[in-house]
Amino acid sequence: MSVLVPELDLPEINQMLETRTPPQIVEWSGAQFGDELVMTSSFGAESAVLLHMAVHVNPRIKIIMVDTGYLFPETWQFMEQLRRRFDLNVWVYRTRNDPIKYLHDAGEEDPTWRQDIERCCGVNKNEPFDRAIRELAPAAWLRGIRRDQADTRKDRKIVEWSKRNNCYAISPLLTWNSRQIGQYMKEHQLPYHPLVEKGYLSIGCNPLSCTRAVLPGEDPRAGRWAGQSKVECGLHLDTSLDSAKL
Ligand code: SF4
Repeated sequence: MSVLVPELDLPEINQMLETRTPPQIVEWSGAQFGDELVMTSSFGAESAVLLHMAVHVNPRIKIIMVDTGYLFPETWQFMEQLRRRFDLNVWVYRTRNDPIKYLHDAGEEDPTWRQDIERCCGVNKNEPFDRAIRELAPAAWLRGIRRDQADTRKDRKIVEWSKRNNCYAISPLLTWNSRQIGQYMKEHQLPYHPLVEKGYLSIGCNPLSCTRAVLPGEDPRAGRWAGQSKVECGLHLDTSLDSAKL
């Protein structure tokens, strides 16, 4: 562990934070880590919530955004909208691959579909993310995951030590559900990603294999890697996917 990263009593801290609201958890994070705290944002469906809480605590907090090369144009528009409204300090980390050349080299003939999702996520999403964490070397990182989003997130703790990233991973929204997120958005007049009104309730990259609109009554994350066992892009797992270059 880096000398700059304080050793925390995680069981005790998590017990205390489980009873706090997300804005209080973000405040605790800011007080604990100061400028050594960064956040990640996909500028997805409900990303405005954590961004709003984070800039309230530290207006210049570094916000890591991963550009896989395959994001929706609406995601960029949404990022600009939020960047202007909150004067966000966004740090975009891009894939090292040319998006067209990657498809050619990986034998992906249909740009609207990925046959090898693990490989594509490994080199185009996880590699830029790992690079961001390596370069910024934060003591802690705020992320927007919630327990109700996926089975893989049900047992997550609000503060975890990420061996992979050598820093703490803090999930202030972990205990909230969609209704509470919606209430917060309404209360602070925050916008949803523009594709939400078209039925995209969880938004990642644009190939249909990776993001599709969901049907009424479907789980919000049913549109991510639909029909596949994959439920996580890998950024929130503590083992790196293969991020080797092609
Ligand atoms: S979500 Fe899809 S397009 Fe995006 S990096 Fe992963 S496999 Fe590639």
